[in-house]
Amino acid sequence: MSLIRIKRKCKECKEDFIAKTISSVYCSRKCYLRNYKMIKKNEIKIIQKIKIVPLLKKFLLEVMLTIKEATLLYPIFETTYS
Ligand SMILES: [Zn+2]
Repeated sequence: MSLIRIKRKCKECKEDFIAKTISSVYCSRKCYLRNYKMIKKNEIKIIQKIKIVPLLKKFLLEVMLTIKEATLLYPIFETTYS
């Protein structure tokens, strides 16, 4: 049994509770599960949105890669000429 007692506000129901571990953010398992289910539901929604627009996803990935490449190359040229 842990000796740690930290007063915290539950991430889900916003009620004050005494945390028994440093990482505790929920007052009960009920709140933890409620939040977990909500996160999962949101994840599914996001994935479904991506599946609807696969071309947009492909486009975003290509753009992000281009920016990454540009930022990788740019400082080399800048330091070379300064
Ligand atoms: Zn709670």
